[in-house]
This record gives sequence, structure tokens and C-alpha cells, in this order.
Amino acid sequence: MVVTKADVYEKVIFAERPVCPYCGNEMKVWALYQISFACGSRWGTPYLFICANDECRLFVDGWEHMRQTYSRPCSYRCVCYPDSGKTEMMAVYSYDKSGMIDEATIAADKARGTLKDPAVQQLLSHFQSGDIGNLLSCLFDRDVYYRVRLKAAELIGELGLLEAIEPLRNYRFRDQRIADGVRNAIRRIHDIAGTQECPYCAEIVEAGPATCSHCGRSLS
Ligand SMILES: [Zn+2]
Ligand SMILES: [Zn+2]
Repeated sequence: MVVTKADVYEKVIFAERPVCPYCGNEMKVWALYQISFACGSRWGTPYLFICANDECRLFVDGWEHMRQTYSRPCSYRCVCYPDSGKTEMMAVYSYDKSGMIDEATIAADKARGTLKDPAVQQLLSHFQSGDIGNLLSCLFDRDVYYRVRLKAAELIGELGLLEAIEPLRNYRFRDQRIADGVRNAIRRIHDIAGTQECPYCAEIVEAGPATCSHCGRSLS
């Protein structure tokens, strides 16, 4: 599966935050795409962890060291690669913190697809009113966040309505995570309804009998 920037972002916000080896502060998430592409491509990742502490020893001493040694107004911040956990010094030319993602944004993004998400609350109300149509349209909408779509799939399974199976089978889910969620939902519908799909004629038949009540072939 192709790893998108959104996938990397999600991994990074749910990861345990590294601690700066120079000051002990928890690092921030830094979006590299907000700086120049040429710079960003050097790190080979759209997000890094960065020590944003202006009192950090590396950052404070860096200004002094660079001024004395090279007469240059720059310093360093400590960055950490999300994949390897490796840390590195990165030259910075100001106290600017653009691209560093604030904690409120991260907390809101982590809540997406959970019960705190209004989109999920909406799904639950569709579920309570047995509104399979709205649950399916959310599931089929590629613009909806995938965790919300997974929740829709789960609730469709819990509704246990056989009428949902045909639209679920007829739709091509390109996202493997969604396809897996849909497969589980179909299994759940059959569990609740006490049915199965005949592997030969694809008809939905009662679970249990040794032969398909539709085509008569052996189901064992
Ligand atoms: Zn630090
Ligand atoms: Zn059959």
C-alpha cells in the first residue's frame, strides 16, 4: 500500500514523543512541507520531531558558537526521525516556529474517528435509527476520514441487515483497511442473521444445512 503524507502524520501523532537529549523536553511535531521543498526533501520524511525549547542548551549555545566561530547568525535545534528514532542537529536561522504543530491541533486530530468526533456521533445516531442508507453513503465516501468510514462499516455490521450485503459486495474498496472492515461487517451481518453466502451460487442462505437451499450444492 502506498504510504501517504496523511499516513505518516497519523503514525507520528500517535507515536510516543521523543525527549530532546540536550534539554530533556518532549519534542514537538514539525511539518517539513511548510519549509522549502529542497530543504524538506533532504530528510526524506514529511514530518520530524523537533525540540522547540528556546532554552535548550543546544539552541542557546549554538547562537554563541556560530557567531564566534563563523560570524554567522544561526544556531541548531535537535530533530529526531520518526522512523529510526535517530537524532540530529539541524541549522536554524531564527526563533521561528512555523511548521511546528500545536498540541491542540494534534489532540483534535487524534480524536478523529473516536467517540469524541462529531462525525462518529452522527453515525451513531444513524445506527440508532436503523438508517442503513446514511451509514452506507458515509462508508462509500472517499473524502471521509478512513477511521470514520471504518466506524460506519462496523455499525453496518452491528445492524445485521441482510439488505446491506449486496451494496457492500458491489462496491470496490480501494483502501485495504476499509476493505478489511467491510469483510468483517459482512461476517457480522451473517452472524446476527444466521445466514451465509453460498460459495457456488452466491445466494444468501440459512447457515447450518449441509446443502445450499438455492442451488443444492454441498456446503460442507
Ligand atoms: Zn532541547
Ligand atoms: Zn448455492
